[in-house]
Amino acid sequence: MMYRELGKTGKKVSEIGLGLENVDKKPYERVEETLNAALDNGVNILDVFMPGAEIRGFIKKALGNRRKDVLIQGHIGATDVNKQYDISRDMPTVKKYFEELLRLYGYIDFGMLFFIDSEEDYKGVFETEFITYAERLKKNGDIHHLGFSSHNPTMATKVIETGTVEMMMFSINPAFDMVPVEESVFDHLDSNFSRDVLRGLDPKRAELYKICVQKNIGITVMKALGAGKLLSAEHTPYDKPLTLHQCTHYALSRPSVASVLLGCQTAAEMKQAIDYYSASSEEKDYSKTISTVRNDFAGNCVYCSHCQPCPVEIEIATVCKYLDIARLDEKNIPPSIRSHYASLNSADCIECGHCEKRCPFGVPIIKNMKDAALLLGGKQ
Ligand code: SF4
Ligand code: SF4
Repeated sequence: MMYRELGKTGKKVSEIGLGLENVDKKPYERVEETLNAALDNGVNILDVFMPGAEIRGFIKKALGNRRKDVLIQGHIGATDVNKQYDISRDMPTVKKYFEELLRLYGYIDFGMLFFIDSEEDYKGVFETEFITYAERLKKNGDIHHLGFSSHNPTMATKVIETGTVEMMMFSINPAFDMVPVEESVFDHLDSNFSRDVLRGLDPKRAELYKICVQKNIGITVMKALGAGKLLSAEHTPYDKPLTLHQCTHYALSRPSVASVLLGCQTAAEMKQAIDYYSASSEEKDYSKTISTVRNDFAGNCVYCSHCQPCPVEIEIATVCKYLDIARLDEKNIPPSIRSHYASLNSADCIECGHCEKRCPFGVPIIKNMKDAALLLGGKQ
């Protein structure tokens, strides 16, 4: 297992985490075997958004004396008043569900403002007692860090700009990233990702990830497999399905992503997820598959590394990633980006052009290498 720092929280989280939603309503033994497989393989971040008393209790029981070994995302406003998952902004209800979570787990590592996808959601959190309650939880040490969850890049950016959050949980997969920013990913999930709506990786969605780097907001990923549809021959919008490892790799190669929370339902599924670390670069390469749909945004790097190898060993995708972040605001390039770039060597590019022939997305790599040297390395 590899670990990454989760933005401003400073916490080191496992690149692969476990979202426990899919073991909800399953027998205790399933919860226990899945959780054990996760912890035995170094997973240290769990998403516990589910409001149900039974699943919350099963997780606590399965964790036993290992509470301190894991970091828990708990969601403020997740309820099941009518026996279904629901979002509440009604404070007595919100408090009842969250305080039950605190009672079970003692504290919550990442207290998440639940589901901010619309202006109404935003107002319901930031213009009411809701945010005061969340900030008080943090002040009291009941939650260690404040985060939020969203599926909408415009609203996510708005929340980040309040300056109150340290991390976010966001839905990331190649198909969602190709849905025009004005549209809801859920509409397309329901209509089985019709390929007609996909336009190429939308730069406005990509911008959110760059803003997160700039502001040091760590990202945990949900829906990395598009509810499993991206793995299905029947539902994929591409010429063929993606694989589990390709989806994992896609999410992990977005800027600011620290952990992909996979919804494994058994110990075997958890082990398959961990097999990511045994997969070859070819097995993880998503570029060929996602380039089989229309791309209105050709020329933008998707960080797939399909252009490698480079004869002078430049890490092209990494250079492009830092360059994209730097270009977002050239006058305020985060110092961390400059220092990361210092270990790279894009100025050594001999302009052989091998990479540009291999890139399925028409990225002007040679120009990018020069621009990076200029912008990040101060080279003329
Ligand atoms: S053009 Fe530059 S970056 Fe591309 S493979 Fe050749 S040396 Fe490497
Ligand atoms: S330059 Fe092209 S092939 Fe290389 S990482 Fe970017 S998109 Fe992929």
